[in-house]
Amino acid sequence: MAGASTFTVLNPATGQVVADAPDCTREQLDEAVAAARDAFPNWAALDVAERRRFLAAMADAVDVHTPELADLIVKEQGKPRPVAVAEVAGLSFWLRETCGLELTETVNQDDAERLSVTRHLPLGVVAAITPWNYPIGQASFKIAPALLAGNTVVLKPSAFTPLANLRLGEIWRDLLPAGVVNVVTGSGGLGSWVTGHPGFDKISFTGSTQTGRRVMASAAQRLTPVTLELGGNDAAIVLPDADVKELAPQLFWAAFANSGQICLATKRLYIHEDIYDDLAGELVRLAEQVRVGDPSAGEVDMGPVSNLRQYETVVSLLWDCQEQDYRFLTGGVPEDGTAGYFVAPTLVDNPPESSRIVREEQFGPVLLLLKYRDIDDAVARANAGEYALGASVWGADAQAAQQVAARLDAGTVWVNEVMHLHPRVPFGGRKQSGLGVESGLAGLLEFTEAQTLTVRRSGWQ
Ligand code: NAD
Repeated sequence: MAGASTFTVLNPATGQVVADAPDCTREQLDEAVAAARDAFPNWAALDVAERRRFLAAMADAVDVHTPELADLIVKEQGKPRPVAVAEVAGLSFWLRETCGLELTETVNQDDAERLSVTRHLPLGVVAAITPWNYPIGQASFKIAPALLAGNTVVLKPSAFTPLANLRLGEIWRDLLPAGVVNVVTGSGGLGSWVTGHPGFDKISFTGSTQTGRRVMASAAQRLTPVTLELGGNDAAIVLPDADVKELAPQLFWAAFANSGQICLATKRLYIHEDIYDDLAGELVRLAEQVRVGDPSAGEVDMGPVSNLRQYETVVSLLWDCQEQDYRFLTGGVPEDGTAGYFVAPTLVDNPPESSRIVREEQFGPVLLLLKYRDIDDAVARANAGEYALGASVWGADAQAAQQVAARLDAGTVWVNEVMHLHPRVPFGGRKQSGLGVESGLAGLLEFTEAQTLTVRRSGWQ
C-alpha cells in the first residue's frame, strides 16, 4: 500500500536518491496490525507441516528473485554485490533450515493421579524491528521462526534500508494468506509507534543498545515480551603460538567485512607482544590491498559506511584518536570531498583502554590492535566494558585456546573462527548486548508461550 507521503532513500556510495519509500501513517500501521491480527487464528491453526510448506515456498521465491533483491541492497546499503547475494541466500537458507526445528510437548507427569503436559503456543502478532546493516539478513532471523511457531508478523525495517524489505513483501504477498507478513516503512517515529501499539503480542528488536532500552521501556507498559539483539564491541585474543600469516586474512575480514558494520565483527584485537609487530605488518599489508569504492560502479572489496549518521559516528571517533595522538597504522580520518561515505580500513596502534575508540561501539571499518603480555590481563581487558555479544580466541593449540575461550564473557565465543551463525544455533548478547536469543530451538521458543494442561485422574477425595 502506498503511504500518504514518502521519504527519500539515498545511495551511501554516491549520495544520490535511490527511490522514495512510503511513509506509513498511524492509520496505516493500525491497518497492518489489524490485518496481522485477522490472519493470526487461521495461521496458528494450520498444521505445522502446512506452515513448513509455506516457508519452503517463501524460500523458493527468494531464490528466484535473488539478483533483484541483491541489487536493491547494494544500492540502499552500499555493500559489495557478492556480499548482498550471500545475504539474500541466507534468508532462504534460514527459512528452510528453521523448518527442521521441532516444538515438542513435554509430559511432566503421566500416571494414575495426573496427566500434565506443557506445549508451546504462538504469541500472536510479532513486531519485527530491524537495523540497516543486513536489511534482509536481520529480517530472516525473525520472520522464519515467528511464522513457523504460528505467529503473524509486521516487519519494520530501518528507514535507511526499506527497499529490499518492501520488495520482499510484494514477492511473498501472493504466496501467503493475506496479513501473515506485513511490511511497514517510515521515517521519524514509526519505530516508537510500533512499540507503543497495543496490537502487538511480541517485539523482536535488533538495533543499538540505546534504542533497545527505549523499546523495553515502551513494551513494559503492556508487559509485551521482548527479544533484544543489541550492540557489541567484540574482542579477539590472539595467542603467542598463532600462525600470523595464516590467520591475518581471517582476522582482517573478521573486522572489515561489510565495512565493519556487523554487530559480531571483531573490534578489539588483543595480540600477544611476541607477535604484535608481525601481525600488525600483515594486517597493514592486507588493508593497503583492499579496493574501497562504489559497489555499483565496479568490483570492490569494501563499500562505504552505510549512512550519514553512522559515518559521522565513525569519523567522530577517528577525530578523537587523532586529537589524542593515537597512531593510525593505516587509514584514519577520511578526507573531505567525496560524495559517498567512504572510510578506508583503519588500524589503530595500541590505544589506551580508557579511550573512546576502545570503550564505544564504532560499528565501522576500524580495528584496534591492542598489545598484551599476560593472558590474565588480556582476558580481563576483553571482558571489560558494557557489551558482551561475541568474542574469539585464536591459536595453534586449539585446546589451550578453548581454555581461554571458556573465560570470556560473551553470548558466543568462537575458537579459530568468528561470526559463524547457523539457523539451528542460538545466538544473543549478554550484559548490555541484549536479552534473549535468536535462532536455534531457544530462538524459536522466544516466539511462543508455554501452556500447561493438567488432568487430575484420581486421588481428589
Ligand atoms: P537503531 O537502534 O538506530 O535502529 C534499529 C531499528 O530501530 C531501526 O529500524 C529504527 O528505525 C528503529 N527505531 C529507532 N528508534 C526507535 C524507537 N524509539 N522505538 C522503536 N524502534 C526504533 O540501530 P541501527 O543504527 O539501525 O543499527 C546499528 C546497531 O544495531 C548497532 O548498535 C549494532 O551493533 C546493532 N546490531 C545488533 C545486532 C545483534 O544481533 N545483536 C545485529 C545487527 C546490528
